Parts: sequence; structure tokens; C-alpha cells
Amino acid sequence: MRVVVINTGTELLLGDVLNTHLSFIAQQIFPVGLRVERQITVPDGDAIREALREALESFDIVFATGGLGPTTDDITREITAELLGLEMRHDPVVMAAIEARAAARNFRLTDRIPRQANVPVGATVLPNDFGTAPGLYFPPHVGSAARRSHLFLLPGPPRELRPMFTTHVLPLLREISGESGEGVTRRYRITGLGESHVEEAVGEQLLALDGLELGYCAMPGEVVVRISGDPSAVNSADALIQAHFAHVIFATDETPLEEVVVRLLAERRNTVATAESCTGGLLANRLTNVAGASAVFGAGYVTYSNAAKTEVLGVDRNLIDMHGAVSEPVACAMAEGARARAATTHALSITGIAGPSGGTEEKPVGTVFVALASNGAQIQVLRDRFPADRITFKQLATQTALEMLRQRLSG
Ligand code: ATP
Repeated sequence: MRVVVINTGTELLLGDVLNTHLSFIAQQIFPVGLRVERQITVPDGDAIREALREALESFDIVFATGGLGPTTDDITREITAELLGLEMRHDPVVMAAIEARAAARNFRLTDRIPRQANVPVGATVLPNDFGTAPGLYFPPHVGSAARRSHLFLLPGPPRELRPMFTTHVLPLLREISGESGEGVTRRYRITGLGESHVEEAVGEQLLALDGLELGYCAMPGEVVVRISGDPSAVNSADALIQAHFAHVIFATDETPLEEVVVRLLAERRNTVATAESCTGGLLANRLTNVAGASAVFGAGYVTYSNAAKTEVLGVDRNLIDMHGAVSEPVACAMAEGARARAATTHALSITGIAGPSGGTEEKPVGTVFVALASNGAQIQVLRDRFPADRITFKQLATQTALEMLRQRLSG
């Protein structure tokens, strides 16, 4: 099925806002067996008319985002009704939801807000649980113009579009594409291995499978292997990938590594603390981004200076003098100190040289030590090197720490 995404918003074309809808929608529809073939961005206002007209002529599924709000430049709904020859009716159920939302937030309804309760006749309302403007779905038979396309109008703000998409759009797409959500497309997210290592191990054998399409995508600390094709080719590829990489595949969906770790901790009724130097709290931040972290996260210590490592975590001053703050013994002492102070099952520590200065021949910029102390297990420590900008360095170091804990929890 041919799929097009039309993003509306002058701010996207001015570069003020990054278009995150495209990647979100593309990732969401992939497991349903659908892919975006084309994407168009148009400014607010009338430009949407032409883009919609063209898209409705040649695509099977059309997603249009933005322009459903109350302001004068939000005219996507009206233009669609006009293009499809549909009358607009005020929907009391939508209006009641808008009023209830306004009342709960002590928000005065302006004169233009009721416009958002106007629904073109024949369209299905996609409730907006996080905003006022509902989304709209137009099946192919709705409207005067002959067309084959399914049209979805979705709100601009990502915090509204995303939950609406997963709750209300995906079930419709599964019906439309006739896929169960599994089968012809799969994605494997691997950490701790480079893209070329993954390809070296399985690339040739995968390419030899008839009817299989293969793709790799490298991101900081993660490689995504994507396969699609007929079910028998996909199943053979799956067996091959699992045989090589089952231990380093942390997800086959969009779940971030920190969420996988929090879930594993919760399942085992384990807890964790963090002791961070060069990552400045990013590890604690990533873990606490996950809903439910309070059940598993004990404490996060950001001990940037040597004095803090000693005072807060009880790291022996002599250890720092003898080996340096970026060293295996100090990483171990930080993890043990954090675990003892927070009384958790596990503690992760990170100490390293983010750069650009501070490197030596023995410990060049990018050197990092990550340690994991666990109740009843031997302390584990590893040395790695991520010569990158500071932000990427932090991401990679925390990814390493999370994967270390995931490995321990997965046995
Ligand atoms: P509103 O009720 O807020 O007016 P709307 O459905 O009319 O919602 P827009 O006005 O087009 O949507 O966009 C609202 C905001 O959503 C934009 O200012 C922008 O911050 C964000 N947004 C819109 N489109 C995108 C996009 N493609 N990617 C990321 N953010 C976006």
C-alpha cells in the first residue's frame, strides 16, 4: 500500500521545529507492514489543499498532521471537507469533551475553540485524550470524489498525536493493511556491537535468502537490523539473527533500553543505585524517565569531583591518588559505595574522560570505566573508549552501563 505523510506547519519549514512526526509515524506503521513512500511539508494555510488533492489521487493511506487547532491558520479540517464535498456538522460529544477538558483545567473557552467540534459528515472522530482538537479518519467511501485512499487528519503537537496514533490509528491500520502486526516485517535492536560486526556475522547469509529485504541503521550505542519480505524468508532470517544475537537484542519494538532494564528490575523485585562522574546524572535521568522507576530506583549520586567521590561515596582518597579518578579501582569503589549507601540490590558507576581536554597517553579522551556491584555477585568492571563529543560520549557510556545491568538481570 502506498503511504504518504503530509506535515503542515510554517514553523517546520522555517527550521524552528524539528519534524518528529515523520519518524514517529514511519516507526509505528512498520510493524503493521506499511512504509512511508513519500513525505511532504507544506506551510500553514491554503498550501495543504494542493498537497491533499494530489495525495488523495495517488496514495492508499494519507496522513496529514497539524492545522486542526483553533487559530485562523488551522484550516486542514475545513479544506478536507471542501475537497471531499462533505458537510460540516457540530458534534455535541466532541464539544462536551472539549468543555470537560477546559473545566478541569480552569481554562476559558475562546470563541474559536468550538470550531474544533465541527466534524465532516462521514468522518470517524479519533478522540484526543491530551488536547482539544480531535483527529479525523475518512474511509475511502466517504465523500463525493472517487478515491481509494484512507485519510487521517492528526493534531500537530507530538504529545497529542502520539497517544492518538497508538490508541486510535494503529488498530484501524491493522484492519486496513490486513496484517496481524507480526510477520512480514521485523526489527531487532542490538547494543554493544557495531553495525559492521553485525553485518559481518549474518549479512551474507541474510542476503542469500530469497525475498528478503534487509536494512541496517546505526545510532549512538545501538544498531537496528530491519528485515521484511515474505513470511518464510522472514522466519529463516529471524532464526539466523536470533542464533547470533539473541543475547544482545534488547528490544524488537520501540522500547528504550532503560525501560527494558526497569522492567527486568521490577520483575525480579531488585533495586538499583547509580554513581556517576563524567555522565553528570544522565544514567539516573534515563532510568527515571521510565514510568514505574520509583519501585526500582534507590538513589543517584553525581560525584564529579574527587572530594565528592570520597565524601559522598566513601571512595578511599589513596585509591584516587594511586590510580586516578578514572580507573578500574575507583569505578569499583564508587559502585560499592553507592550500593552500600542506597542499600540497593545493584549499583552502577561510571567514571571517564569526556574531553576535549584531560586525556593522557595511558588514558586518552573518551576512556571510560563502568562498574556493576550486585548483591551476592562478584563486582564487574569494564573499560571502554568512546572518542566523541560530550553528549554522544555520555549517551554511549550510559548505554554501556544499562546493557551491563541488563545482561546481569537476563542471566
Ligand atoms: P494546535 O491546537 O496546537 O494549534 P494543530 O493541530 O493546529 O494544534 P499545529 O498548530 O500545526 O497543530 O502545531 C502545533 C504545534 O505542534 C507546533 O507549534 C509544533 O510545536 C508542533 N508540531 C507540529 N507539527 C510538528 C511536527 N511535524 N513535528 C514536531 N512537532 C510538530
